[in-house]
Amino acid sequence: MIRRNMKAVHDDDLIALLKSLQCFDVIETKRAQCHFCGKTITLNNIEAVFPKDSEVCFCCGHIHCYEELIKLKNA
Ligand SMILES: [Zn+2]
Repeated sequence: MIRRNMKAVHDDDLIALLKSLQCFDVIETKRAQCHFCGKTITLNNIEAVFPKDSEVCFCCGHIHCYEELIKLKNA
């Protein structure tokens, strides 16, 4: 379920995806944090959405965070 290159996705599609995952409000109200660095996730810096421990987690656009995400996925 990992979506990469969200910025390439049309904003409406991204918002629809986030709404379908019921996490749009969390991001819009700036309560979402990057799973790896703790940075606040916004529609501008969101890089990926992924499931972990039955929760929806987010990854920001920082390269280090994305590398951690890949490691997590391959673990
Ligand atoms: Zn991050």
